[in-house]
Amino acid sequence: MTGIMQGKRGLIMGVANNHSIAWGISKALAAEGAELAFTFQGEALGKRVKPLAAEVGSDFLLPCDVEDLASVDAVFDAIKERWGKLDFIVHAIGFSDKNELKGLYANTTRDNFTRTMVISCFSFTEIAKRAAELMTEGGSMLTLTYNGSTRVIPNYNVMGVAKAALEASVRYLAADYGPRGIRVNAISAGPIRTLAGAGISDARAILSWNQRNAPLRKTVTIDQVGSSSLYLLSDLAAGVTGEVHFVDAGYNITSMPTLDALTT
Ligand code: NAD
Repeated sequence: MTGIMQGKRGLIMGVANNHSIAWGISKALAAEGAELAFTFQGEALGKRVKPLAAEVGSDFLLPCDVEDLASVDAVFDAIKERWGKLDFIVHAIGFSDKNELKGLYANTTRDNFTRTMVISCFSFTEIAKRAAELMTEGGSMLTLTYNGSTRVIPNYNVMGVAKAALEASVRYLAADYGPRGIRVNAISAGPIRTLAGAGISDARAILSWNQRNAPLRKTVTIDQVGSSSLYLLSDLAAGVTGEVHFVDAGYNITSMPTLDALTT
């Protein structure tokens, strides 16, 4: 197979099933010749990820729960042993207690604030540090964020605060690793029906609002996020780092509902 990712090896973190954004990204990368390793969170998800990995020609699967730093270390030890180096990583991991993804942000508890921050934000920094050690010939790192980082989206609450910190991390990590030829970017995806997306209260209403009001009058698919990720992870984006790139059918540029949404 030939393609723009030919000869590149990367780690995908965050495939839960075939609806996951990370799966859309994996398909796009594999179609262009990338060799992939996958992490999975727990045995139940591992059973779902294994056949998906096989579909894109990978038998390299590693358990990882980012709350357990030893499991993160074990992932990078295994990659070092099998591949010796790494060209890219995809961090598509997010979690918050769904009881707090509704109602007032002000009701966020200290425990869930901390847990959400560690899993959804700081894990990217911990992973980037370990991945950078293996990116001996430069590399590219990508994480996933959402517009709730800078705008108030009903029920997104503490996830919005975590995504704001994640986007700031992208910029700091880009500055840290730029001199070593390692690029760090984020894609801000529009709402998509996934396991994590379903945890946000009224997700269906948010999807339909985006569909009616985005300039392209649609919500995005995991394949559309995949093809934009391919650009950022490949040498096509060799001059791009520290960016938050919207893949949201243009929703972020709007400031009010479309007139047809108001009148129908
Ligand atoms: P998903 O449920 O398919 O993926 C979330 C992944 O996070 C799962 O694979 C899960 O195993 C993993 N995860 C959660 N806690 C973890 C932990 N402690 N250790 C290791 N892995 C853990 O949902 P998705 O929508 O594909 O989410 C991927 C990323 O995209 C998330 O960061 C999410 O916030 C972001 N995002 C989603 C949307 C959307 O509307 N779905 C929009 C913008 C951004």
